[in-house]
Amino acid sequence: MVKVPESMEDLIYWTNRKVGKGHVKAWVYRGECPECKKGMMGKPTHPSGKVKVRAKIYVCDNCDYEVDKEEYEDTLDCECIYTCPKCEHKGEATFPYQRKTYKGAKALVFKCSECEQKIPITKKMKKVKL
Ligand SMILES: [Zn+2]
Ligand SMILES: [Zn+2]
Repeated sequence: MVKVPESMEDLIYWTNRKVGKGHVKAWVYRGECPECKKGMMGKPTHPSGKVKVRAKIYVCDNCDYEVDKEEYEDTLDCECIYTCPKCEHKGEATFPYQRKTYKGAKALVFKCSECEQKIPITKKMKKVKL
């Protein structure tokens, strides 16, 4: 079962979009710090408290441990609820937060549990044919 997020603050990724005739809501929770196991990993902030959106690292909010953004994201899971663009099945899925190349575009890809249609979540606005 996926856990629908209550707050954006717990997330490092969130999307809500149409995919063909279907629809996908997907999110990735911040993970726990691999070093101290107490803090949560998140994007670094400026002294003013503003998040450094383009930072290439995540830092622990407890011990300041730093990890490479891409390596760390590979270890996380993406959860989603979806309506399949092919069979209209409404379901949920959990899959690795790893972008793959799908028909020439970088996308998170998961399969409909009902009809096995691959459903891509591309970066913003990029259109791919199903
Ligand atoms: Zn830590
Ligand atoms: Zn389907």
